Formats: sequence, C-alpha cells, structure tokens
Amino acid sequence: GPITTDMKTLTEEIEKFAKDKKIEIDTLKIREEYRKDFLGNVSHELKTPLFTVQGYIETLLNGAMEDKAIRKKYLQRAAKGVDRLIYIIKDLDLITKLEVGDLNLEKENFDIVELIENVFDLLEMKASKKKISLTFDMAYPNPIYVRADKEKIQQVLTNLIVNSIKYGHKNGTTEVSVENLIHNKVIVRVTDNGEGIPEQHIPRLFERFYRVDKSGSRSEGGSGLGLAIVKHIIERHNEKIYVESELGIGSEFSFTMEKSKNR
Ligand code: ADP
Repeated sequence: GPITTDMKTLTEEIEKFAKDKKIEIDTLKIREEYRKDFLGNVSHELKTPLFTVQGYIETLLNGAMEDKAIRKKYLQRAAKGVDRLIYIIKDLDLITKLEVGDLNLEKENFDIVELIENVFDLLEMKASKKKISLTFDMAYPNPIYVRADKEKIQQVLTNLIVNSIKYGHKNGTTEVSVENLIHNKVIVRVTDNGEGIPEQHIPRLFERFYRVDKSGSRSEGGSGLGLAIVKHIIERHNEKIYVESELGIGSEFSFTMEKSKNR
C-alpha cells in the first residue's frame, strides 16, 4: 500500500485493513505495535556491524589501502562484520518463521549423545580461544535415542553452549549432561561457571532482543535472539526449558526431550 507518514491517515488505513481482512481492530493495533517494536530492534541490531564494515571500507578508500599489511587486516575485519550481518539475518529469518508458526518440525530418532559430541567438535575452537573446556558428564555413557527435529535441537545446543562460552570466564568449564527422567523423557543440561545472571533479569531472558548487559553482550557478537530461538524450538516440541543462575557462580540451562520408542 501507500506509504503514510501522517498519523490520521495511518489509523484510517489500519481500520480499513482490519475491515477488509476481518481482523479485530484491537488485535491489529497490537500487531502493529509489535511489528514496529520488532523493526526498531532489527534496525538497531544491524546498525553496529554495518557501521563497522562501513568504517573499514572508508578508511581503506582514504589511503589505508597503500599499506599491504593494513589492507589485509582491514579487509579481514570488514569480512568479519559481513559474517556477523549474515548471522544476524539468519537468526531473524528463523525467529520470524518460528513466531509465525511457519516452520514444520522434521522429527527423527537420533542419538543425543552423539549430537552433543558433534556440537562440541564444532565449538572447540571458539571455546579454546577463552581456554574454556567443554566437558561431558553422563550417568549413562551409552547412546541415548531421542525423537525430535535433529537440526533444530543442534541449533538449541549450539546457542546454549555458545552463550556459556560468551558469558563464561576464562579458564572456565561448560558441562553438558543428559539424564533419564520418568515418563520416557530425558533432560539435557548445559552448565557453566561463568558470570551468572541477576535474578530480576531471568523472567525476561527468553524475550527476543533482551539482554542483561546491553553494550557488553552486543560486543560479544550475538543477535539477542539466541534464547528466544531456543525457547520457540523447545516449545514447538511441547517440551520444557528451565534456567537457574546465580550471579558470580554460573548458569544452568536445561530442556526436556522425548525418548524414542524404537532403539
Ligand atoms: P545474545 O545474542 O545477547 O547472547 P541471547 O538471547 O542468546 O542473546 O541471550 C540473552 C541474554 O541472556 C544475553 O545477552 C546475556 O545477557 C544473557 N545470557 C544468556 N546466556 C547466558 C549465560 N550462560 N551466562 C550469563 N548470561 C547469559
């Protein structure tokens, strides 16, 4: 439709849209607020890496290109900024699909222990940069077959372990465990001995773009969507997610999964 800047015309347009689509006007107004809030956050998230990339490119164009070593360094940093943008856009795409309910789960039976080991392998480098050890503690060191969307659960594990590294202390530990529960369920726990989370922030932690330390965690390079994505994926599976954390001691994020009936 036409772009409207005038408030009155916007209201009129929303009313007409609601009538056409047979949507309650209040519902639509809430959605409109939600959309504005979302877009505001999105542009804010994209700005930081975009300005970084712009900064390096401008510096290069203004003469830094002459020096071979600096040229390489700045291009690498610009490339890193672009990587971050892509990463944020991928997360945005995923959260949008999850929120709209436009994402089908593709459930299969798989060994959750093996998946955790694969995620460890993928994150080994990142952890070692902070000298954080990724350890695996299990009451039953054998394969444990679960039924879930494997790719999505890999994303859940990745987001939680990446956070434990980002908000963990140097020389710290991230421990993952899987435990059998009654009623054919297992619980997966990701525990760190990092900075922990102040109690008053815990209820809002899974909201998209919510951060405890605004500047700090943004510089750590997240999208602010990691936990929102985790929550959606677990809830789509009809499972539960829990968090326990103590400031200065560490955090534990855990979620339940359904055990597979065969195998
Ligand atoms: P971000 O991209 O900021 O990491 P997330 O949704 O993954 O976004 O996490 C939201 C916020 O929760 C983080 O900014 C951080 O403040 C807090 N947080 C998440 N995981 C941990 C953890 N393991 N230890 C301490 N704080 C955490």
